[in-house]
Amino acid sequence: MEIICLASSSAGNAYVVRNEKHAILLEAGIDFRLLKTRLLDHRIVLTALGAVAITHSHGDHSRASEKVSRFMPVIASEATLKNIKVLPNRGYPLNEWQKVYIGSFELTGFFVPHDCDGAMGFIIHDRLNDEKLIFVNDANMVIYHFKESFDYIMIECNHVNDILISNADDRAIRVAKSHMSLETLKIVFAKSINNFSRTKAIYLMHLSDGNSDQNRMIKEIEKQTGVPTYACLKEGGVTSG
Ligand SMILES: [Zn+2]
Ligand SMILES: [Zn+2]
Repeated sequence: MEIICLASSSAGNAYVVRNEKHAILLEAGIDFRLLKTRLLDHRIVLTALGAVAITHSHGDHSRASEKVSRFMPVIASEATLKNIKVLPNRGYPLNEWQKVYIGSFELTGFFVPHDCDGAMGFIIHDRLNDEKLIFVNDANMVIYHFKESFDYIMIECNHVNDILISNADDRAIRVAKSHMSLETLKIVFAKSINNFSRTKAIYLMHLSDGNSDQNRMIKEIEKQTGVPTYACLKEGGVTSG
């Protein structure tokens, strides 16, 4: 599968996962016109996307949901669908661990802890290439232990605790409670998602503008996991540091 980052930060998130035949949008958290432009940069038209899966209702993940729902079904938890705008009959409520098929992709959702009702992570199986991706955006922990090894891991790495503490502002408590720090991510990679035998790449998402350190995050995660690690960029694309 191919993974494309269109936008990644608290200002907005959008990613595409595709194989030779099908494509899915993950998150619709940027302005609709910008989303169309960024997709076209990769020669992707909206009608080529089989569905959009949205992790939760915060605007930086769902901003364009209503307009996007003109072109594709919107997959999200029932609580998320209640809190976002979607055209009638275009919302597809996903129960935890339920499987849904989008062309050659199989998508499963599971709940993650975040300060938002019904926040989910996704497991996406590309059945054409037999590759699996685990996708966890806003979350302050992963509460399940996944025994299997994923080919790709996309996960939030919002801030570094010591940087957040030295910058402490009014938002720091909310950020610390609801977003994944580098320190917590290391616990996740020790306890929750800790089989890297098949893992080809790790993508860090949703880096904070002021409280992160891209190069340090990449280096420390590569050292811990031995897996090539990339940071998703705010305006799209990824970097290896
Ligand atoms: Zn967010
Ligand atoms: Zn959020």
